[in-house]
Amino acid sequence: MGHVKLHIPGPVEVSAKTFKAFCSPMVGHRGQGFKDLYAKIQPQLQALLRTRQLVYLSTSSAWGVMEGALRNLVAKKVLCCMCGAFSDKWLDVARRCGKAAEGLQVEWGQPIRAEQIDRKLASGGFDALTLIHNETSTGTMSPLAEIGALKKKYPEVLFIVDAVSSLSAIEIDFEALGIDVLLAGTQKAFAMPPGLTVFVCSPAALAKAATVGDRGYYFDFVEFQKNAEQSMTPSTPSIAHVYALASKLEDFFAEGLAARYERHLRLATKTREWAVNRGFTLFPEPGFESVTLTCVNHGAKAGGRVVDAAKLQKLVKDQGILIDGGYGKIKGTTFRLSSMGDETEASMHVLYEALDEALGKMG
Ligand SMILES: *Cc1c(COP(=O)(O)O)cnc(C)c1O
Repeated sequence: MGHVKLHIPGPVEVSAKTFKAFCSPMVGHRGQGFKDLYAKIQPQLQALLRTRQLVYLSTSSAWGVMEGALRNLVAKKVLCCMCGAFSDKWLDVARRCGKAAEGLQVEWGQPIRAEQIDRKLASGGFDALTLIHNETSTGTMSPLAEIGALKKKYPEVLFIVDAVSSLSAIEIDFEALGIDVLLAGTQKAFAMPPGLTVFVCSPAALAKAATVGDRGYYFDFVEFQKNAEQSMTPSTPSIAHVYALASKLEDFFAEGLAARYERHLRLATKTREWAVNRGFTLFPEPGFESVTLTCVNHGAKAGGRVVDAAKLQKLVKDQGILIDGGYGKIKGTTFRLSSMGDETEASMHVLYEALDEALGKMG
């Protein structure tokens, strides 16, 4: 069997143009060629993240920077906002880093709300919080604007936000939100090969990092800033990824960010409609559905049809498309359909037809 098209929520399908850029001839990472490449994409990255701060490139998956943020910024105690597999894991990672950490756990499928965070922070003692904007395991988006607004009340708490599966699919205004760290792995909505994370820090976060010990070297935010000022990275980056990122940014701005955001919303809306029209219910709390993936209940909650998610996945895979059969404790009772990256109405239509054919076979 040939290539199986990825419709899982990361990694996602990578375009031929991106792969071609990925295979560009190598340059030295301290030479003018690399500096020019980084300097060329810096303003585009700043426009995408809506920031005047320098945007950093980390040759690591997202977890590298997620762990790095804890090691750089937590001196007292971190509040980990938890609503799914990735956000739940961040508490575990904080403790493995030896940080004092407390969880704010809500039921999977629920978003994190500002008033819940407010209640926790009011008890005092926290100097950072972690939040996942788009919880990929449950397809649920938390309202960033209302959460960011809390920064005014708690200026001493650094807000660390994971936008791994949402950045570039919906507008995230780093400066206006007032948050302190924003990070995204690029194998999700950016549709790049896995292995690169982009991130940005507020001046307050950089000042705090400079005072925190044990932040190590590889993910030292102070080192990232120092090097970014020279259009470089602290250590040798995956230069192939930087070429691929330059190509991808070219695509983003050719399409136009507003059009890109609109496309993601439109395709996610269509996918939700496909599911509901087939008698399924959606896993997330209504009103908080992700704009990049759709997490569908296999039917148990609907009281209607119940499908075997693993069997559905297999029957779709037989047609050359990979969907996800649920993640973590909702594996088997949900399935996830990704519409992020380069997907179009036409490519999503192919997915819906494959799903329909598979459902037809399942009776
Ligand atoms: C995929 C994902 C991660 C983990 O990313 P890695 O690249 O595997 O480290 C973290 N957070 C969210 C929201 C994700 O979707």
